[in-house]
Amino acid sequence: MTSITSTSLSDGRELIYFDDAAAPKSRAAQLTTDHRGLPARGEPGEVRYDALADEWVAVAAHRQTRTHLPPADQCPICPTTAANPSEIPASDYDVVVFENRFPSLGPALGPVPEATSWGTKGPAYGRCEVVAFTPSHTGSFSELGETRARTVIEAWAHRTEALSALPGIKQVFPFENRGADIGVTLHHPHGQIYAYPYVTPRAGVLGAAARRFHDAHDGRDTLTGSLLRSEREDGSRMVLEGENFSAYVPFAARWPLEIHLVPHRQVPDLAALSGEEKDELASVYLNLLQRVDALYPTPTPYISAWHQAPLDPVLRPAGYLHLQLTSPRRAADKLKYLAGSEAAMGAFINDTTPESVAERLREVTLPSPTTSPAVLAATPEGAHA
Ligand SMILES: [Zn+2]
Repeated sequence: MTSITSTSLSDGRELIYFDDAAAPKSRAAQLTTDHRGLPARGEPGEVRYDALADEWVAVAAHRQTRTHLPPADQCPICPTTAANPSEIPASDYDVVVFENRFPSLGPALGPVPEATSWGTKGPAYGRCEVVAFTPSHTGSFSELGETRARTVIEAWAHRTEALSALPGIKQVFPFENRGADIGVTLHHPHGQIYAYPYVTPRAGVLGAAARRFHDAHDGRDTLTGSLLRSEREDGSRMVLEGENFSAYVPFAARWPLEIHLVPHRQVPDLAALSGEEKDELASVYLNLLQRVDALYPTPTPYISAWHQAPLDPVLRPAGYLHLQLTSPRRAADKLKYLAGSEAAMGAFINDTTPESVAERLREVTLPSPTTSPAVLAATPEGAHA
């Protein structure tokens, strides 16, 4: 069992240690205090209602002063030393989650206004958390090893359950931005979790499609589940298959590199996975990231995004947890930029075929067999088995 210990930083922010099951330590006995004496937390920014698109926009001008690519000896998520009193008041840790000091949303909580028209705005309620994957300043998720990856998954599940219970929260989104090319402001391997007071635009579109499919099948089938079956039967875009999870490049991939990792059982979110499923997820997810990292001689920037069912009574029954990993990289030295068609119209033009990307991901040579033999690279033929 992952050992979980909660404490608070000098400005009152919550910080939680998740210690690996394989190396039990008495975290409570060695809890240390954050002596930095940080100033009190500020008021939230604001959310403005975009009447033209029926969407909320968070305005977070105060974030302009946040830490941007600090040198390694001033890293805010390395363990604290005498010379670097970091965000984590411990000499070592396994996985840590803490409230972001410069949040886009929060720290105050509450609902967004219900009646909306031009000029509607409100406080940017919600919560933004940072997930430090490792005390090591360099490296990447794909190198964590199964024990540590399992601890991160336990942290995601724990935070999903806790954040979902906070007042006004409508969607919980764990994600990782990897690589300076896509706007990462800290090199230390980490992810984030956003808890929004509204259903985000993309989740709203996917959620509505899922709900329509669910209704058309009298609540007996899910859209994501049917796509998973179709992809597994077809086989040509499968990347890997396990007992409880499979990954594929979707039929209509929008990005040069896009992979969906889907549990075989419909669950709304990470908190609903069984222990056995979380164990396999650690192995499957590492295998997937190692394939991505093996595509090119240098690390590929990516956005790894957990789509969890919104906390909305209409959308949630049709919701189906899955991961969408996307990258703008289309060659060793080329990134796809979102230009006119994509950025202005949301109409994606993909210069790669999903089938060729899946084939490359199946055939890469992995650095070492760090993942469980139960996880096999799918083959077009084997996918039918
Ligand atoms: Zn660091």
